[in-house]
Amino acid sequence: MTSMKRRTLLHNLVSAIAVVPLLGAQAKTAGAFNSFDGERQPPVQAGDAQYMRRAIRLAGNNPKYPFGALLVDREKGIVVGEGWNRSVKNPTWHGEMDAINKCAAAHPKIDWTRLTLYTTAEPCAMCQGAVAWSGISRVVFGSSIPFLKSLKWWAIDIRAEEVAKLSTFRNCAVVGGVLEEECNKLFQAALNVK
Ligand SMILES: [Zn+2]
Repeated sequence: MTSMKRRTLLHNLVSAIAVVPLLGAQAKTAGAFNSFDGERQPPVQAGDAQYMRRAIRLAGNNPKYPFGALLVDREKGIVVGEGWNRSVKNPTWHGEMDAINKCAAAHPKIDWTRLTLYTTAEPCAMCQGAVAWSGISRVVFGSSIPFLKSLKWWAIDIRAEEVAKLSTFRNCAVVGGVLEEECNKLFQAALNVK
């Protein structure tokens, strides 16, 4: 082995060691992902099922595309936006976008970081992107993207949690599976709606 090669090996070894603390810092950031306000939150919170029931009722406005959504101000305990799928009028008008747009119109100065989005189905990349841009810090969904795919619903194949993780300028907790069976039934039944 030449001294040059030895130096390169030594350099690589030192570089590898130097990377360890960095990885540690990344792991810490990833661990903080499921929290807001610096505190770790339990995945499901009081009121989640009640608000999801309301999202299911909103989904009833469009039984063929039963994507219902609402925004809740956690501090005040009030609903600040409700929506459902209107993609017949505008292809980007998903339930979550409807709720976000209605909230922005009705509450122009709202602190979005206090809001939780409830939605019958896991947000697509567009809607989870809108969640990041608006600053919504918690998302609760019923049916998952893999479930929708299993029923042959169109889906962009990236999980909401992944989009949230990649939106590193925000801290958004994503919780799935709330009233999942009820939500799944909506999407199964929708396949028979003419
Ligand atoms: Zn969407």
